[in-house]
Amino acid sequence: MKCSLCRKKAVERLRQYKLSLCKECFVKFYEKQVERTVKKYKVFKSGERVLVCISGGKDSAAMLSALTTISKEIEIEAFYINLEIENYSDVSLKNVKKLCNELNVKLNVVNLSEYGIYLSKAGKKKCSVCGTAKRYIMNKFARENGFDCVATGHCLDDIIVFFFKNWLSGNFEWSTKFLPRMEGFDKIVTRVKPLYLMSERENAIYCLCKELPFTKDNCPYAPKDDWKEIIYDIEKKKPGFKRNFVANLPKYLNRKTNLEFKHCTICGEVTTAEVCAFCKLRKWMEERR
Ligand code: SF4
Ligand code: ZN
Repeated sequence: MKCSLCRKKAVERLRQYKLSLCKECFVKFYEKQVERTVKKYKVFKSGERVLVCISGGKDSAAMLSALTTISKEIEIEAFYINLEIENYSDVSLKNVKKLCNELNVKLNVVNLSEYGIYLSKAGKKKCSVCGTAKRYIMNKFARENGFDCVATGHCLDDIIVFFFKNWLSGNFEWSTKFLPRMEGFDKIVTRVKPLYLMSERENAIYCLCKELPFTKDNCPYAPKDDWKEIIYDIEKKKPGFKRNFVANLPKYLNRKTNLEFKHCTICGEVTTAEVCAFCKLRKWMEERR
């Protein structure tokens, strides 16, 4: 298989783009895609100080590397929360230090125990405790240290899985969590997802092509996720499904959240206009009588 662009040996076939790419061309392609996503969704504002949260895994490693190459107008520092999980966290911390060193990015590290949280004591609730603690600490650290926004490595696959799970359990309070940029308010710092349109696989290949240090093992507490397999199967049959699905989410969510409810000035029922559709209809009927 040869690279469609330069004819060197290809490392990856991107079915939805009908492209095969070599190492160098893949790296350029990937960074271009992240850059486009960042522009399309106005992920950053010029001059912002961004706290880039990294875990040692492939997604956040890819995010940090891509951001250092494409975002000239923002200031970035990395942030690692040491979950203090035996072996796994030691390896992750080592990778994170190496990564920041190679990319020349300042690294901030905190330990979960500094905040009084011990995953080893969280029983079966490890992941929910971990998730809540990470969100809280990221936000607090960013705010107290003068960052304008927090960037996380959530990618295409995470967003789809999260969407389906919440949709099926009837939880609709999450909708803004699916946007590539969620503006902060009160004590909440703005959150951004620069890898909104990148897949896990693309992130991994980018890390391998660039030889970035990352932790290959999953967290030992990670639950098995059938959803990822289901989505993978759909993507195999319908290349481009994941990307098209997520790319259209903001259109839907923005439209939904921008809807402002009012009360009809005639009948008092809920409407989005001054006068509800029913009252307009009644008026129209009266004129015809
Ligand atoms: Fe935290 Fe590991 Fe659970 Fe992820 S899988 S939420 S890192 S405990
Ligand atoms: Zn090439």
